[in-house]
Amino acid sequence: MKFENKTAVITGGSRGIGLAIATRLAKEGANIAILYVGDESEGENAKKELLQYGTKVEQYFCDVSDFEASKQVVDKIIEDFGGIEILVNNAGITRDKLVLNMDEKDFDAVINVNLKGTFNMIKHTYKHFMKKRYGRIVSTSSIVGIIGNKGQANYAASKAGIIGLTKSVARELAGRGVTVNAVAPGYIGTDMTNALSDKVKTEMQAQIPAKRIGDPEDVAKVVEFLCSDEAAYVTGEVIRVDGGLAI
Ligand code: NAP
Repeated sequence: MKFENKTAVITGGSRGIGLAIATRLAKEGANIAILYVGDESEGENAKKELLQYGTKVEQYFCDVSDFEASKQVVDKIIEDFGGIEILVNNAGITRDKLVLNMDEKDFDAVINVNLKGTFNMIKHTYKHFMKKRYGRIVSTSSIVGIIGNKGQANYAASKAGIIGLTKSVARELAGRGVTVNAVAPGYIGTDMTNALSDKVKTEMQAQIPAKRIGDPEDVAKVVEFLCSDEAAYVTGEVIRVDGGLAI
């Protein structure tokens, strides 16, 4: 199995794309630490689902935008699991509005969770990976971080920031056997996009060259590859998973 004796930390791993990633990694032998911030029972259900693959699974309450809390949780996971080999920064939120109506709180909230949260988790695992001379860091950007999107200036800025962060840390850690990559999903069917109206969904689908909305699995397969030893020579890369939407 690809990830036997490896521990993966997945932020926002109890639903959507994060759960699909956790499932693929667990099926390949990874021990899983899920970070959640919302409904504990959702995390419990995810844990039950993941335990069927026979690896160790724990869930931890942690708001990734909180620098101290994310440090404490990383230290606790290292203590509980004996180490971390894989970090998947998947937690993300939206507060969509035109800049005209976007207040400072909407901007800060999205930057704090999506970009600062990714920084916090990388910062607190950085030395651990350096010492191990091994690590896989994969962060979830978005195609809107590449091409922008009306009504998502805060979100697009946070996702573009993840790309800059990824490429910089990739350069810093490449000599230590640590790869740092990002995926940039297009339109994927999850709670985040289910909130859109049917009209918007139909319009978006029509723009996708592949003519279908992506599944969380489509993203998880690419993340699984980036976390594997097969991807040892891939770093600082951003892989679009968008059915061609941002070609
Ligand atoms: P989702 O279903 O809304 O899930 C978001 C996840 O983020 C949840 O598990 C949530 O935890 C977690 N989260 C939110 N705020 C957090 C915080 N402060 N601390 C820790 N965890 C937090 O969204 P999704 O569609 O699966 O999205 C996953 C990632 O892919 C996000 O980064 C998103 O921006 C990105 N993405 C999604 C799409 C898409 O079309 N769906 C496209 C491009 C990129 P709880 O479950 O505890 O609430």
